[in-house]
This record gives sequence, C-alpha cells and structure tokens, in this order.
Amino acid sequence: MDQQFASDNYAGICPEAWQAMQEANAGSAVSYGDDDWTHRAADGFRTLFETECEVFFVFNGTAANSLALAALCQSYHSVICAETAHIVTDECGAPEFFSNGSKLMTVPAHDGKLTPGAIRAVARSRSDIHFPKPSVVTITQPTEVGTVYTLDEVRAISAVCRELGLKLHMDGSRFGNACDTLGCSPAEASWKAGVDVLCFGGTKNGMAVGEAVLFFDHALAFEFDYRAKQAGQLASKMRFLSAPWVKMLETGVWRKNAAHGNACAQRLMGAIGDLPGVGAMFPVEANSVFLRAPEPVLEALRDKGWRFYTFIGGGARFMFAWDADPARVDALGADIRAAALG
Ligand SMILES: *Cc1c(COP(=O)(O)O)cnc(C)c1O
Repeated sequence: MDQQFASDNYAGICPEAWQAMQEANAGSAVSYGDDDWTHRAADGFRTLFETECEVFFVFNGTAANSLALAALCQSYHSVICAETAHIVTDECGAPEFFSNGSKLMTVPAHDGKLTPGAIRAVARSRSDIHFPKPSVVTITQPTEVGTVYTLDEVRAISAVCRELGLKLHMDGSRFGNACDTLGCSPAEASWKAGVDVLCFGGTKNGMAVGEAVLFFDHALAFEFDYRAKQAGQLASKMRFLSAPWVKMLETGVWRKNAAHGNACAQRLMGAIGDLPGVGAMFPVEANSVFLRAPEPVLEALRDKGWRFYTFIGGGARFMFAWDADPARVDALGADIRAAALG
C-alpha cells in the first residue's frame, strides 16, 4: 500500500537494525541473554546514558511499562498518571495485572502532561489506611498527544516525587523523539532530571521489536529478571532483541530516526499551518500531528485514501516514523489544503 501515517508502527525495520539481525544470525550464540550481543547492547546503554544502569530487554512497551511499574509497587500501592496515559488507555489492564492490583490513579492532563500540583493533590488527598498508598508517578515522554515535557518540567515533577517519597517512571516509547526535541543527552532527559526507571522504545524508533528497561537505581531492579521471565518476556534467542540495539546506539541512528520523524511533523505543519478552520489540537513537539478539522474535511481525506485514527478528541492523528517519505508528507499536506479550502 502507499505509505500511511496512521501509526509509527506501520513502518518497517530500519537498515541498521536489519543489518544487526543479519549479523546476529551468523552462527550460534548462547541463549537467554548471556551472549555477546546482549552484553554489548547493555554496555551500549551504559555508555550512552553515562551511568552504570541495570538494563533489561523485553518484547514490547506494554510489558516494559507493566513490569517496571510492578517492580516499583506492592499490590496495595497506587500509580499516579495522566488520564491519557498509554498504561491506562492502551494496555488492557496489564499494569494492574502484573502488579497484582496496584491501582492507577488518573489525573486530568492538559496537553497530555502531569503537573507537580496535580501529583501533590492526589498524593496528599488521603493518608489513611483505606486508600491505595501512592508509590509511583509515571510520565510519558513525549506524551500520547505529541507534546514534550521540558527538562524543567521533569525536574519539577521529580522534586515533588522526592518530597513525597514516590518513584518516577518514564514511558519513553518515543524517548528518542523527546531527546531530539529537547536537544539534550539521554542522561539529561532521564536520570539527571530525576527519572528512576526508563522504558526506552525500540519498536517505534525503527526496530522490528523490543524495548529496553533501564533502572538508574540498582536496588529497584531487584529480581526484575525473574519478573520478566514469569511474564513470558525473557527471549530465549535474546540476541535478536539486543543486536539491533547495538547498531542503533553505536551508529547514533536512534537519534537520527527520531529527528526525521519530528522533522516530518514540522513539515506537515509548515504546509497546513495557515489554513482556516483546520489546525493542530496540541503543540506539535514530536513526531505526531493531531489535526482538528470539520468532519467533511476528514471525510474528504478518507476518500483520498488516507488512514488515520480519531480516538482522541475527534482529531485525526498522523504519526511520522523513521521512514516517512517527505514527498508523501507533502501529498498529505496538499490533500488537507485542498479539503480545507475546497
Ligand atoms: C506504542 C506505545 C507503547 C508501547 O506499546 P506496545 O504496543 O505494547 O509496544 C507504550 N507507550 C506509549 C505512549 C506508546 O505510544
């Protein structure tokens, strides 16, 4: 089919990740993660993040988030998150399931973001034994609506977490996009800003499959390997999850891919930013554009064959991956223009 921008998961595997899979396929290797590729990938993260973090590889983001949160919670605890958080809306109860019932406490979120005030309000609302005890705050970076927390915003949230004795988890399924937007290092975007655990997405960054779970506080990683195994997330041929990371990190393509997606979102905005009655629902700060448009405009786009999801606020979501073709982005922009002005 012609390239579509309904999801960044429509994209294939980038050449660097593909090449790594091929190299990893030359001969045999030790199973269950005790192989050279996996050691190299873990070390690659330690180099990139400038710290001796604990690194684990799992198949997908739902598992990464759910198992990381479960590691930070007892079953009687709660997790404070934005009402739009992927863990609430798109993980089918997996965080509650893997934590044996830790409650997700949702907070209204402007532009997809949690604020220190909202966190404090929930965490302080009750302190009696009848209420699930807040244990973790989770933020999504970039958010589900394509905005990016500034470093100051992350630092302010981590300061409240420290004040209230909460851990800070970051769902970074598009972490690379956030680093590009912020123009900062991965370390600055995570542990240096107070993040305790980061789920770093590989799938949306150009890999076939796989997310890395990074614990910056070693104590929090206690027995995480057992947790991942029990959840069916320990790959027996682990090298095929880890080898792509080696090349993604060594070549810096993780950042290049993200920058390309971000640039394509800006490219689309450049083509449609001046249109009357049509525009972005949220600040465009990463690789997505949520288009606010009258239903006839959306209908005209569907008629032209464009695919998109409208499950957030009636807007049309367009996501740009590592492989987004600028000519296709321009074609989309032209069709939006024609539909809006038509
Ligand atoms: C895609 C995504 C994930 C991971 O989802 P899986 O389908 O389980 O890999 C996690 N968080 C956010 C915000 C996402 O967009």
